[in-house]
Amino acid sequence: METVIVLFNRDLRVHDHPALSAACERARRVLPLFVLDPGVPPGRRGPFLAACLADLRESLRSRGADLVVRRGDAVRETLRLARETSASAVFTSADVSELARTRQRRLAEGIEVRRFPGVTVVPPDLLRPSGGGDHYRVFTPYWRAWQQAARRAVLPAPPRVPFLQGIDPGVLPDADRRGGETLARERLRAWSARHLAHYGEGHDDLAGDTTSRLSPYLRFGCLSPLEVSTLDNDAFTRQLCWRDFHHQVTFAFPRINRDDYRPRGHQWRDDEEALQAWKAGQTGVPIVDAGMRQLLSEGWMHNRARLITASYLVKHLRIDWRRGAAHFFDLLLDGEVANNFGNWQWVAGTGNDTRPNRTFNPLRQARRFDPEGRYVRAHVPELADVPAAHVHEPWHAPAPVRAYPPPLVLF
Ligand SMILES: Cc1cc2nc3c(=O)[nH]c(=O)nc-3n(C[C@H](O)[C@H](O)[C@H](O)COP(=O)(O)OP(=O)(O)OC[C@H]3O[C@@H](n4cnc5c(N)ncnc54)[C@H](O)[C@@H]3O)c2cc1C
Repeated sequence: METVIVLFNRDLRVHDHPALSAACERARRVLPLFVLDPGVPPGRRGPFLAACLADLRESLRSRGADLVVRRGDAVRETLRLARETSASAVFTSADVSELARTRQRRLAEGIEVRRFPGVTVVPPDLLRPSGGGDHYRVFTPYWRAWQQAARRAVLPAPPRVPFLQGIDPGVLPDADRRGGETLARERLRAWSARHLAHYGEGHDDLAGDTTSRLSPYLRFGCLSPLEVSTLDNDAFTRQLCWRDFHHQVTFAFPRINRDDYRPRGHQWRDDEEALQAWKAGQTGVPIVDAGMRQLLSEGWMHNRARLITASYLVKHLRIDWRRGAAHFFDLLLDGEVANNFGNWQWVAGTGNDTRPNRTFNPLRQARRFDPEGRYVRAHVPELADVPAAHVHEPWHAPAPVRAYPPPLVLF
């Protein structure tokens, strides 16, 4: 092939990138491209995305190429660049969301498109349950099959990318300091050396905060999930398997972000005031408010807190999961269709939980996973001086806590 465009999307790396490696092997000239599409605004993830792009551009430049950046409809801009450069094909990473698949279908109407793996550990259409069906609906059998599944080899970064010179590379938006493959790889190394061995015991400890925090990097593909899955710790790779699980569900049920996966006739309550209090971390339930405030301040929330806050919204306030999921999706740096909506539906009992009536009691969760109240105190300063015995139930404190609301719902 003479010239091939590698269209990046949420695979912003050079290591273990099958589409990029294949283009470098098969084409005389390679054009790495990213399109900033105003139809898919990154919202709060914008500066992180920009940092990922800046880092990718650096990596490509050090390999003799560049990252071409365009603004506009992703399909139109890709086809325009293909016309300008006489590119004969677009190589890209296959993805699961409706948006990504529609984009790839539209693109294929104008040029040859080749899809490669790289967004998940195991491709989302590879594993089929023995009893029939196009995807796994239950996690545990999926986890068993996933562990046995054949894996492709992890690819090295291509040493050189043969670039088509003379193209205007385009300007990147302003970046923050957090994103990108270089930082992600450093974090992966440092975190796994220090915490991987104890992941199983520590990952639910809210104040300990020893989970990897790699999710934003995995979200943007700064790390290859396949490469990360080679870390030797079952409790940790199980979480990556959850990620793959939700991706294969989304591949089979692309309306995951809108429709109940398993409709159960829920009657959701319309309570704008309660929804706003939940969003603001002002429900009066400390463990819920701590999680919601961590989300507001960091754009990230500990998994245990996500379970507690989401369950509180759908099971205690009985507000539609779509309202909560939309808020998470807006604010999370790792916000992404399969994992966000898949997890929300799991918690709401409309998704893949085999116990759809499960409820997380916030008080019991708080006592178990934040026994000294350190997580609560870190995020809810009004409770800083409340004694440990009352920090999770300030309504039982001997003196009323000023500037902190009474609970919206008692349980
Ligand atoms: C209501 C709700 C919404 C969520 N929304 C998202 C989201 O939008 N994006 C997202 O990446 N994760 C989401 N999660 C899953 C999980 O909370 C985060 O992936 C995790 O907290 C990220 O922190 P970490 O990187 O330290 O995870 P670690 O514990 O270090 O796990 C390593 C990686 O495994 C994956 N992972 C871990 N737990 C899960 C899980 N339950 N489901 C799927 N993948 C998982 C993530 O990619 C994570 O980075 C959600 C969970 C809930 C309950």
